[in-house]
Amino acid sequence: MDFELSEEMRMLADMAYKFAVKEIEPIAAEADEQEHYTPEVRKKAGANGLIGSWIPEAYGGAGVGFLGNTIITEQLSRICMGIGLNIVAATFGCENLLYYGTEEQKKTYMPPVCAGDTVCAGAYTEPNAGTDVAGYKTRAVADGDDFVLTGNKIFITNGTVCDWMVVQAITDPEEKVHKSFSQFIVPADSPGIVRTKIKGKLGIRASDTAEIALDGVRVPKTNLVGKRGAGFYQLMHFFDTTRVLVAAQGIGLSQACLDESVKYCKERTVFGKVLGTYQITMQKLTEMWIRIEALRNMTYKAAVSLDGGKPDYHLSAMAKYFAGQTAVFCANLAVELHGGYGYVEEYKVQKWYRDAKILELYEGTKEAEVMTLGKVLMSR
Ligand SMILES: Cc1cc2nc3c(=O)[nH]c(=O)nc-3n(C[C@H](O)[C@H](O)[C@H](O)COP(=O)(O)OP(=O)(O)OC[C@H]3O[C@@H](n4cnc5c(N)ncnc54)[C@H](O)[C@@H]3O)c2cc1C
Repeated sequence: MDFELSEEMRMLADMAYKFAVKEIEPIAAEADEQEHYTPEVRKKAGANGLIGSWIPEAYGGAGVGFLGNTIITEQLSRICMGIGLNIVAATFGCENLLYYGTEEQKKTYMPPVCAGDTVCAGAYTEPNAGTDVAGYKTRAVADGDDFVLTGNKIFITNGTVCDWMVVQAITDPEEKVHKSFSQFIVPADSPGIVRTKIKGKLGIRASDTAEIALDGVRVPKTNLVGKRGAGFYQLMHFFDTTRVLVAAQGIGLSQACLDESVKYCKERTVFGKVLGTYQITMQKLTEMWIRIEALRNMTYKAAVSLDGGKPDYHLSAMAKYFAGQTAVFCANLAVELHGGYGYVEEYKVQKWYRDAKILELYEGTKEAEVMTLGKVLMSR
């Protein structure tokens, strides 16, 4: 067992962090304030191999696996989780294609996304069913050579900026619920689609989030992803891998909170002494450090298990759960350690505090992870 990162991975981390400092940091505050999606940075990231790095080179990716993607996501999230998401989640939904798509689908759709030229979205959640993924109501009805989709999706990352999306819909309502779903590639400009940006998010405000209405949207049957009726299981497989991405966001944000806090605690004087010399301060910083180290190890291990062909999906769920907790914990302490300064926009920790909470909500709420893992325990 070797816990050392390879030279290639260390160089990748260094490159991703330098990219984030140069391209993301100068625009992060303004993009957050104005809820501005950042296509120009996404394009540069594509040119630098930072998009879809987990995708094999044959389909346009950098082929550095999920560990490489974890490392990139971590480094970008140290600067801005929202803009970082615009980069690493430009491929959101491509997981379905890589695992279950046809060769033609992979070769047509994935390379332009990896290059930063197009954007994908994964449209699963519905207004009345988020955690309950078997409760979606969107229908896809076969009609000649096409399927016709009707329904509503909500909270879709990249919703108004994507070129195409993977949509989860019911094709076989007469089957048992878990065998009733299928997945489709749907071009975003198809007639019958209305996309509405959701404004006023608490955090990751540079990321685009949208409501999507589908009314009689026609796609050819060749746009079916994987097997008809297997959509529920394909979606579970999707979450098994994307949870590692979310966990990586948590590492980066938590590390940023720690680094910024250490810096501040060395500069700030209280009661005539440097803040960092008080034991109560050291305890806060140390607790952050320990949790980040544990999270990083757990997440890297989950990523390595995916790359090694022996995926540990329980570990993916654990890492995602722990990432949310760690990020919220670290962001909270970072604001506390900054005192009143942590509460105003001039200081970066207030943004990270707002950004952190999404990690306990999307890609399965923390309660959803407990349900997933609890069922495993009870089945033993
Ligand atoms: C910024 C953002 C980006 C997103 N991006 C995407 C995306 O790209 N694609 C996509 O499809 N979705 C996306 N989502 C949706 C996200 O995954 C869902 O919001 C999330 O899964 C929770 O679903 P919900 O909002 O319907 O909450 P609900 O499912 O209604 O849950 C409400 C509360 O009830 C709890 N709960 C639910 N069921 C149970 C139970 N059985 N027992 C106990 N407690 C329970 C939940 O944990 C939660 O605390 C995004 C959301 C946000 C906010």
